[in-house]
Amino acid sequence: MTPDQFRTVGHELIEWVAAYMERVETLPVIPPVAPGDVRAQLPAAAPEQGEPWDAIVADLDRIVVPATTHWQHPGWYAYFPANASGPSILGELVSAGLGMQGMLWSTGPVCTELETHVLDWLVDLLDLPRAFRSDSTGGGVIQHSASDAVLCAIVAARVQAGGDPASLVAYCSTQTHSSVEKDLRVAGIPHLRAIGVDGAYAMRADELARQIADDRAAGLTPFFCCASLGTTSSLAFDPVAAIGEVCRDAGVWLHVDAAMAGVAAICPEHRWLNDGLEHVASYATNAHKWLYTNFDCDLFWVRDRAALIGALSILPEYLRNAASESGAVIDYRDWHVPLGRRFRALKLWFVLRHYGAEGLRAALREDIQLAQELAAKVEGDPRLELAAPARLSLVCLRHRDGDDATRALLEAVNADGAVYLTHTVLDGSYTVRVSIGALPTERHHVERLWTLIDAAAGG
Ligand code: PLP
Repeated sequence: MTPDQFRTVGHELIEWVAAYMERVETLPVIPPVAPGDVRAQLPAAAPEQGEPWDAIVADLDRIVVPATTHWQHPGWYAYFPANASGPSILGELVSAGLGMQGMLWSTGPVCTELETHVLDWLVDLLDLPRAFRSDSTGGGVIQHSASDAVLCAIVAARVQAGGDPASLVAYCSTQTHSSVEKDLRVAGIPHLRAIGVDGAYAMRADELARQIADDRAAGLTPFFCCASLGTTSSLAFDPVAAIGEVCRDAGVWLHVDAAMAGVAAICPEHRWLNDGLEHVASYATNAHKWLYTNFDCDLFWVRDRAALIGALSILPEYLRNAASESGAVIDYRDWHVPLGRRFRALKLWFVLRHYGAEGLRAALREDIQLAQELAAKVEGDPRLELAAPARLSLVCLRHRDGDDATRALLEAVNADGAVYLTHTVLDGSYTVRVSIGALPTERHHVERLWTLIDAAAGG
């Protein structure tokens, strides 16, 4: 592709993306496709000859959009959001244009230093412990996902614990994201205890302490615990301060998974989120959910970077270089599983600079306000009930007539096509989740959602 051709097609594609953002609201959130529909439209073999760009661009509308699940739709209330804001998309574009692979400081000085700097900014913006800053004992790194962050924490904790890996025991709650179980499997850790929760779905610190004591008495080695600030099912908040004391006394590495909710601490009124973080060895939140930075951009901090680097650093001859040997630089390859890494800090930098902390606070506050108003409507409706306390931007609801009625409500609301909700099970009951936080969602969209819920709830 010549630079001129790149420029022409590039302009056209930027225009295409901008037009998509404007028209996404007119499309059904979930595409009406059946398995195999996409592949049936594709040729059996890759093209032998290069094709004209007109044909490639035309296929975006012919093949891609009709089979796209529209996460950027204002009616996206499913799972959690995965926002792709304008500044973030442009950051991705420039990052791809630079094509830098920042495995070492020397292979991408700006890739490394901008990342360190922006993660230090975020320690301050979120009011996280000072020890997480790079000018203290810790530091931050962008991981692909919250799942990768947990895996790195587990591996660092395993090295720190030493001893026979077969005796290691990890802890989470019955509500913890499944990534912990998966990462323990990857790391070859045999024992996981799912600790019980209280009526608000938060981990019981007393049960954790009891289980750790039992495991020790049985000759096992408690080594890792994951607490959640905002569980996936109901956005429940584990008591990190109490859990932290238990873990500190037991010599257990405490990781906090704040994938969705952690970024709310950018608002001073939500700093309650950070209670107890002084006990935490590692912490992760996803800028790629609610902080308007498109996937992937998980923010992972450790209190003791030496523990993480000690667990993950392997230095083959071909990566040796003077900057690394000077000891004056960070080589992020030692902070996660892959060697290679993209320049993801650029999009985060663009987002922080475009919106400013005040802009981000205003956007989050609006989502929280809309969710709380919706929760009040549910509470005031005799046909419905909240299935869990409505925290921040998530509302969990069910029909008082039971699971079948709740399931029918979900199906009826989604059948409209303008919104998409997903479900979970809480305390054995089928539950509808309404997660507010997609960038284009405004008050009138949530009002329309309530109209749909109201109609679907029946007489
Ligand atoms: N932890 C929590 C609490 C989540 O809600 C999620 C995803 O929604 C994850 C972890 C996994 O996130 P990721 O896709 O970044 O691995």
